[in-house]
Amino acid sequence: MDTTNSINLTPEQLETGLINGTLDKLALENLLTNNIHENENIDALSQFFIQYIPGNRTMDEFIKQIQEYNNAQICGLVWNANVIAYRCKTCSISPCMSICAQCFQNGNHEGHNYNMFRSQAGGACDCGDSSVMHEFGFCRFHGEDRPQMQTVPRNLICCAELLIPHLLKVFIRALRMSQVSGDIVTEQKLLEILNQLSNGGSALQLYITNALTDRTLYEEFTSDLSMNRMYHNEFLTGEYSNLPVTFFVESLINDSSSDGLVPFDTSLRTMLDEIMMWCVTANLPEDLVRFLLSLLPDFNFKLTFTETFLRFYGVIAQHLVEESLHEQSEIPPRLVHISVQLFSSNIIAEYAMEKCHLIEVILSCIWHMFVPALEQDKQDDDDDENILKIHPLASITDDSSATGMVVDVEHRLIVKNVYWPLLSDFVNILSQEKIALIILENKRYFNLWLRFLTLFQGMNINERILNEHVEYEPQAYMYAFTIELEISAAAMWCFVNHLKPTYSSDNVISIIKQIIDSINDWLQSLNFQLNNTDHWKLSFHLPLHRYLSVFAYNAIYKFNIDPALFLPIHDQNTLLNFMFHPLRTICGYYEVLSNIWLRNGQQVMIQAKTYAKSAFLSSMHDADLFLLQLLSCYIEPNIFIETLLSKFHVYSWLFDSNNTSNLDQGHQIAMLESTLIALCAIVGFQPNIAVRESRRIRPEMIATLSVADRLYSEVEENVPDPSPMSANRKEIETILEEVSVFQTPSVELMGHLQQGKYTIKGTLFETDYDPLHVLIRCTKRAHFQNSLERFTNYVKHEGLFKSDYPIWPPFRIPKYDHPQMSNVQNILQSSVLHHFLFLCLNAYLKDKTITENILYFTIYLLELSILNGKETSPMTTDVNPEETLTFKTNDIFQNMHTLLTPPNENETESIITLLFKILHKQRSNDFIGIINNISIQLKTSNYKNSSRIGDGYYFLTNILHLSSQMNEQCRLIIEQEIEKLKTQYQQRQSTNTKLSDLTAEQKRQRAKNRQQKLLAEIAQSQKKFISQQNPDEHAMHIGTPPSLTNDNFSMEQAMTTTTAHTTIVMEHSIDYECCVCRLTKSDSQSPIGLIGTSCLSLLPSLEFTQLDEYEQKILSYNSNKITLEAYLHLTKQCLTTISGHPYIANYCQNDHHLRSLLIQSCGHSIHVDCLSSYLKALHPNQESVEQPFNNVLPSNTNFRCPLCRQSANTLIPLFDHNDYLNTQINPIDLTPIERLHQSMINPIRPKLKRVFDDRCLLAFLSGLAAKCVSNEQLSPDNPISLPNHQSMKQRAAEFDCGTLRAQLVHEQLFYESANRIDQKNIRKSFYKILHDLHHLGYSFHHQHLWQELTGLQCPTTTAEVFHPEQTLAPVLLRDSITILLQLLMSAPINLTCDEFDIIVQIVFNIEFFKNLLSIIIEQSAENTDLGDLNIFMHLVTKYVKESGINEQLPIKRTMGNSFESQLMNSCLDFFKITSLIKYRLYGKEMPWITGEEPSVLALANFLNLNLNLNGLAMPQWYCNEPVILFTKWLKEFQNSAQQHSIATKILCLKRPHFSPPIFIDIPAKYDDVFHLFNEYRCEYCKKVSSDTLLCLICGEVHLKRWHPLCCVQQRQRFTEHLGKCGHPAAVFLDIPTTLITICLNESYGYWHSLYLDQHGEEDPKLKRGKTLYLDSKRLAVLRTLWLTATFDYQIQNWFSYNPLMISHFDVLL
Ligand SMILES: [Zn+2]
Ligand SMILES: [Zn+2]
Ligand SMILES: [Zn+2]
Ligand SMILES: [Zn+2]
Ligand SMILES: [Zn+2]
Ligand SMILES: [Zn+2]
Ligand SMILES: [Zn+2]
Repeated sequence: MDTTNSINLTPEQLETGLINGTLDKLALENLLTNNIHENENIDALSQFFIQYIPGNRTMDEFIKQIQEYNNAQICGLVWNANVIAYRCKTCSISPCMSICAQCFQNGNHEGHNYNMFRSQAGGACDCGDSSVMHEFGFCRFHGEDRPQMQTVPRNLICCAELLIPHLLKVFIRALRMSQVSGDIVTEQKLLEILNQLSNGGSALQLYITNALTDRTLYEEFTSDLSMNRMYHNEFLTGEYSNLPVTFFVESLINDSSSDGLVPFDTSLRTMLDEIMMWCVTANLPEDLVRFLLSLLPDFNFKLTFTETFLRFYGVIAQHLVEESLHEQSEIPPRLVHISVQLFSSNIIAEYAMEKCHLIEVILSCIWHMFVPALEQDKQDDDDDENILKIHPLASITDDSSATGMVVDVEHRLIVKNVYWPLLSDFVNILSQEKIALIILENKRYFNLWLRFLTLFQGMNINERILNEHVEYEPQAYMYAFTIELEISAAAMWCFVNHLKPTYSSDNVISIIKQIIDSINDWLQSLNFQLNNTDHWKLSFHLPLHRYLSVFAYNAIYKFNIDPALFLPIHDQNTLLNFMFHPLRTICGYYEVLSNIWLRNGQQVMIQAKTYAKSAFLSSMHDADLFLLQLLSCYIEPNIFIETLLSKFHVYSWLFDSNNTSNLDQGHQIAMLESTLIALCAIVGFQPNIAVRESRRIRPEMIATLSVADRLYSEVEENVPDPSPMSANRKEIETILEEVSVFQTPSVELMGHLQQGKYTIKGTLFETDYDPLHVLIRCTKRAHFQNSLERFTNYVKHEGLFKSDYPIWPPFRIPKYDHPQMSNVQNILQSSVLHHFLFLCLNAYLKDKTITENILYFTIYLLELSILNGKETSPMTTDVNPEETLTFKTNDIFQNMHTLLTPPNENETESIITLLFKILHKQRSNDFIGIINNISIQLKTSNYKNSSRIGDGYYFLTNILHLSSQMNEQCRLIIEQEIEKLKTQYQQRQSTNTKLSDLTAEQKRQRAKNRQQKLLAEIAQSQKKFISQQNPDEHAMHIGTPPSLTNDNFSMEQAMTTTTAHTTIVMEHSIDYECCVCRLTKSDSQSPIGLIGTSCLSLLPSLEFTQLDEYEQKILSYNSNKITLEAYLHLTKQCLTTISGHPYIANYCQNDHHLRSLLIQSCGHSIHVDCLSSYLKALHPNQESVEQPFNNVLPSNTNFRCPLCRQSANTLIPLFDHNDYLNTQINPIDLTPIERLHQSMINPIRPKLKRVFDDRCLLAFLSGLAAKCVSNEQLSPDNPISLPNHQSMKQRAAEFDCGTLRAQLVHEQLFYESANRIDQKNIRKSFYKILHDLHHLGYSFHHQHLWQELTGLQCPTTTAEVFHPEQTLAPVLLRDSITILLQLLMSAPINLTCDEFDIIVQIVFNIEFFKNLLSIIIEQSAENTDLGDLNIFMHLVTKYVKESGINEQLPIKRTMGNSFESQLMNSCLDFFKITSLIKYRLYGKEMPWITGEEPSVLALANFLNLNLNLNGLAMPQWYCNEPVILFTKWLKEFQNSAQQHSIATKILCLKRPHFSPPIFIDIPAKYDDVFHLFNEYRCEYCKKVSSDTLLCLICGEVHLKRWHPLCCVQQRQRFTEHLGKCGHPAAVFLDIPTTLITICLNESYGYWHSLYLDQHGEEDPKLKRGKTLYLDSKRLAVLRTLWLTATFDYQIQNWFSYNPLMISHFDVLL
């Protein structure tokens, strides 16, 4: 049957028929039903719908048109996993809110706390949904204020209206069929149509949702006879009866109906129900889910959908468990994908709670998952062992059967995270206040939750291993932490967050009582006995205790509830039972930190650190600590202390003479310290278990900043924040501003780029720094030491601490922010504690292994005890009480002077006598003075010192003062003791002052002080040295390139004496030192060279300029932007036309510098011999270098400088005048021009004396030439045949000049692009050395040129390049710099500065005429009087007129500036290069500072040019008849203009100024970069990849070559691109990481990010997703690094492209 004709109408006829009402609808419906629903050919049916639904247009057109009418209030765009979306905490109401990139960009989130993220499970856009996000975050197309759309025209939609219900029926039928045939359940073709339609927007969605929820329609459908006939209904009933039946948890259902389990209602009433059923049985196929979710913007449908979803929730949960037996289950993320869309909305969630049993459904499913009805399910799951096991902590006795059960964290449901979707749904609905409060107040709900939590109490028990190391480290702990943090704690913080101060206190009390009951039940189920416990079992998981702690905290602080109202304060036993487990966990935590659990492997350490990690500590460590504090207020202090001491393993050790501890001594001391810290923490520390309170944030922030300067993200990370809805970033920022100073990100070429950091304000060290807090927060002791050091530095710097003895941590006197909590001080009034402190003091005194740490904690606790001291018993008159074994009273003052006998000792001591002995131990040399001091101070009645800054002496004497002030008896006893000591020590004093009598402690101290002083001196001299090395402001003006490191190489110093006309200067040349053998050049016979790099650089060719219309016309160039390369190509062609051969053209304009080598050096030198042995040592397997002199460095040898590790591939030979022969010395009585002329007539080439020097030179130059020639072949106008025999040599010479010029051009690039400050960081220039080397190798004399330029007769010799008859291009059309270099190479090697000036002046004469010529040609010069210029003006004007060159060019350019300044300005480029040469050769102060445009006049002055009175540089003549000379030049020009008018015209065009190469423009915000370039579709294989790189040089997008690439062509494309942009280095923006990637031919490396967030911080890999802004300073640094090819400074790690190598960098990220 032909379906497309099943209704006998064309789509057009159908559309018009429906509009006009000419069709009989009933008949049509029947026709459709009959023809469609009996057809099983899905392909044909799909075709039919695609054709008819759009009516008279194609489907694509239809969707496009109807989208125009989309009127949806909510965006609702659905995405799958791995898509980039946004989350805005400022705009969100639900924490699950997310919006699509489009809506984010169309909305306004300026200044909001938002981030970009990669979606894990998929999601949908919430834009426009006011129950999920605030309206101010909506984009302009969504929400109530969106632009209103017109209604859809009838004709557009009428066919869809008719056919959509049928489409859905066919779809459902197809679902049934595919289920039967065992195919994938989603009928792909039909589903595609449905998704397409839904994409069309609100109008179409409405038809779909109406049909889906229409009960009558479904009834008709199922009762349709054809359905029965085709057996479709049978498939349905078959599947339906297989649905698992799931039940509510009994206790959750009304008491009245408690007679049985209530099953979930899974009846099918609508098409939606049936689709849901198929969806569920097929495990939520992604496309189908996506289709259903796309309909959710329709609010009514969302309600119906939620209801249906919850009816099937039980079935899904069941499937979840079953599926978990398979390898990889897709259900969890898909389930969350759906439920997040529903329950994030408070309206939907509340509707679901009231109408659809939301709470019962979820709680029941969770309960069933963990506690399967044991009796029922046992029989069918034999292989599936139970998720619950007998609790290892349960003590099983014969008479009781312990029923304690605990979750097995290694069970597959846990390991595979199967439970996660259900619990995540539960936690998600708890963010709705109404739901959370209902659960809290409904005893049945909350009890079920507590029963559930009980299953996790004490999970993942660790047992200490004593003998061997564990071989297998279980990962189970991760699951345990995930459960506790993401479920138990997450729910807890939701609950607590909703307890507003207005909430009923009675309810809070009853909630806490329920928690207490649960703990009691748990303890009972374990048969728990206080004294019958194993010390060496440790679990970090106590969810119930933590609920108790956190709820109690809130009861006290938020509701001011007396804990006596919920705690059984009179039942000491119960309180001790409650204290047991948290105490065990904290103690275990310290055991692990003290390495007592070392043999259990790394994983126990990870557990301990996770327990106290800032992100989790509020839910774990601090919660436990607070519970201990709370219990300490009610437990009898002596019992409390005794329990604590014995749990910490110190009681028996210290108090018992027969020590039976199983810890070794090191561990014992570590635990002693831990005990003291724990005691201090209980008394003096305020745990952070509040939801975002600024009074808690501030100390946390100070603690983290006191350890180190921090990035913003580090601050955020280190400030605990248990709040589930932490929108309050403002608060962090405000406090951060109060307590710290922001260090803006800094950029330096040489140093590392600093990100923005926060530094603590110094004064806070005085007032707020709390070492105890830092100590509790640090799991690494080194961090605490850091903070103490920073504190010390501050107080010493401020002069607040002057002692030479070590400073003590300034422990603070605690303040309590709630009166209830000040009761923690109860434990200070304990005879056991006092006895313990006594023993600690004694141990410090007697045991050398006990450090001062123990002492300062002890003294701190003693101080707190005294401050809390109350006289409990009437004062005893007995001043000398009998000796006892323990203190008899809790009175600290009494106990201070009570004499005890420490275990295993005979002498009796009191705390007071111990204190004095310790003072003596520490300060025996001035002990008498000290006790005298004390006795004086004791007499001043109001002695008070509140400062916390001091050393041991300060705090020890402070104890004495305090106790004597507070207690009269103490004072008497202390005074007695002092008197006693005075007499005792004064006798001994005389013999006691020798240095040899100092205690070991004192000696150590003195040695340490001396050492520190020495170190400080060294640091000081280093600083001084560095500042000397760095040039000051003055030096920067001069433009002196400073030395990089401490080397004695300074070209400038050597050169500054070069003023006269002699060659004496060379005697001051530098003696280089080899960095391997440390011998200098003059000390050794082996040739020495600079370690350098030579790399091909195309940078000069990338210079560019803007052309105006006039220039475009002359050049016939049809773009307004031209690169230097293109421009020189044009002029070169003209020169070829004029001179007749490209080779001669190159003589007139040498542009080899466009693609030449950039030669650099780190400045270190090495002997040839030393280098070859160094290379041999590096690569022992490689064949030894056979002829080290001839072939010092094979061209492809890469190595690193032995000294500074920078990469290198070249050795630049170093020679000085001692190495040459034949240096010309001309008579001093001649003028410079006479000397020059002499040397031109009798040229003498310098020669190296030693053969091996010559070989080195040859090796170096031919090495360069080899690289150049291979490069030259790239160039299209490569001259193939050369005119004379010297051509090979001449070509080499031209490359030489090109190389020299390339160095100058790169320097010019640097001067024009770098910042002023960058100057001090640039690599040193080695131009002088290169210049001399090339000179040594250059074998030509441009005598003819000399004659042409000067008019002085000069006979040519064999060293001349061309035959005198050879026609060249006119001298006025040649390139001046080329001429200059030719002359310099012909001049003597020891050219003096004044000779140099003459040469410059000679070439300038040409430059002057060239520019005069172009100005006169281009502009209509008015006949103004220009003084001494007139003569030149008139002559040039005359020749220009006669040449006829102006005839085709009637348009003249208007003159901008005055004639003179134009003339000068057009010489600027010539002046710049020439000045750089002079500066580099002679080290003269150059008036050009990096980053600033130099003044033309200043440069002309610097070059000593002939200036007229107006400051105009003028020609100067050296022959008798200059007029003849320049008339000859002009005649040559005139000839050329007449013969080659176009070429001459182009060559006469004023040469534009070319700017340094730039990067492409990149967006200011990274978001924009990301969206533009984050995906790339390969043009060859069509794969889409997101490993993209954006070339900042040309703007192309590439794929990372070092990742598995899509195809070979793409790799080729990358390599070809490197040929274009990779010289010297390609600069890419690595889109997914935000970092800059530098790509060289063989390797690549990562630089920093150009984009920083508002806190000046990078965000590599966009992990935090903050908005990143382009940092222009970093961009400038990057550009300078590029233009100077100096990436080696900042990139240490280079990686090979070899894809097999895993990049370290990627691993690190
Ligand atoms: Zn959106
Ligand atoms: Zn939107
Ligand atoms: Zn926002
Ligand atoms: Zn050496
Ligand atoms: Zn070096
Ligand atoms: Zn490809
Ligand atoms: Zn490129």
